[in-house]
Amino acid sequence: MRFEGEVVVVTGAGSGIGRVIAQRFAGEGAKVAVVDWLPDRADAVAAEISAAGATALSVHADVSSRQQVDAMVARVASELGPIDVLVNNAAIADGDDVLQMDEATWDRDLAVVLKSVFLCCKGVLPSMIERGSGAIVNISSVNALTALGNEAYSAAKAGMINLTQGIAVRYGAHGIRCNAIAPGTVRTPIWQARIDRDPAVFQRLVKWYPLGRVGEPDDIANATMFLASDQASWITGAVLPVDGGLLAGNYRMTRELLAEAGNEKLDS
Ligand code: NAP
Repeated sequence: MRFEGEVVVVTGAGSGIGRVIAQRFAGEGAKVAVVDWLPDRADAVAAEISAAGATALSVHADVSSRQQVDAMVARVASELGPIDVLVNNAAIADGDDVLQMDEATWDRDLAVVLKSVFLCCKGVLPSMIERGSGAIVNISSVNALTALGNEAYSAAKAGMINLTQGIAVRYGAHGIRCNAIAPGTVRTPIWQARIDRDPAVFQRLVKWYPLGRVGEPDDIANATMFLASDQASWITGAVLPVDGGLLAGNYRMTRELLAEAGNEKLDS
C-alpha cells in the first residue's frame, strides 16, 4: 500500500483517466477527493470507491474558478486532512484551427487546462510547504510537445509543462516534487463524439503507435502513481511521455521509408 492514509486530490475524476487514477490511489490506501464539475459523475465515482471499502469524498468544483478551487481545497483539508498528492487532470479541448476559433473558446480552453493548474497548485502549496512534503502530477499531453491540432488545448498543455518545471524548481527545497505526464491517445469517453462520427477511429490511430495499441487509463494511472510515490523521490520537473512510443519518431513515415527502400522485413 504505497499511499496508506495519504490524502490525494484528483481533478476531473468523474470520467476516463481521472476516474481510474482515483480508484487506483484508493486501492493503495489513499483517501481520495474525487473532484469534477459534474456532480452526478463525482458522486458516482466516490460511491464506487466507497463501495470497494476505501475512503472517498465527492467534491463538485469547476477547477477554472478560483472561488470553487479554494472551497474545494478547504473542504478536502477539513474532511480528509492535509493534502499530500494533487493530480491536475481535468481538461476540455474545444478550440481547433486558430482562424476558426473565437476568443471565448481560446479563453475557456486556457482557463480549464492551464489556469486550473495554477489555481489548484496555489491552493495546496501552502500546506505542503508547511509540512515539508507533497507531490503534484500534472496530466499534460503529447499535444504539448508537437503540433497535433487543438491549438488552444495544446498551447495550454505546453504551458502546463513550464509551470510544472517552475513549481519543481521553486519549491523543491520544501520537499515538494512536481512532474508532468504526456499521454498519447487513451481510450476514454472524451473520444466518444469522434467514435460516433468514425467508429474505426482507434483502429486507424493504432498505426501511429510503435507499440501497436492506443493507451488505456491504467497506463496513465501507473505512471501517475509512480511519480507521486516515494519510488520517484529524486524525480522532479520531469515530463514523462506515456504514449506507446508516439513521440520517439514518426512511425508511419519510418514504415513508408523502409518500404520505399525495399526493406520488407523491417516494414512489418
Ligand atoms: P474525460 O473523460 O473527458 O474526463 C475529464 C473529466 O474532467 C470530465 O468529467 C470533465 O467533464 C471534467 N472536467 C472538465 N472540465 C472541468 C472543470 N473545469 N472542472 C472540473 N472538472 C472538469 O477526459 P480524459 O480522456 O480522461 O482525459 C483526462 C486527462 O488526460 C486530460 O487532462 C486530458 O487532456 C489528458 N489526455 C487525454 C488523452 C486521451 O486520449 N484521452 C490524451 C492525452 C491527454 P466534461 O466531460 O463535462 O468536460
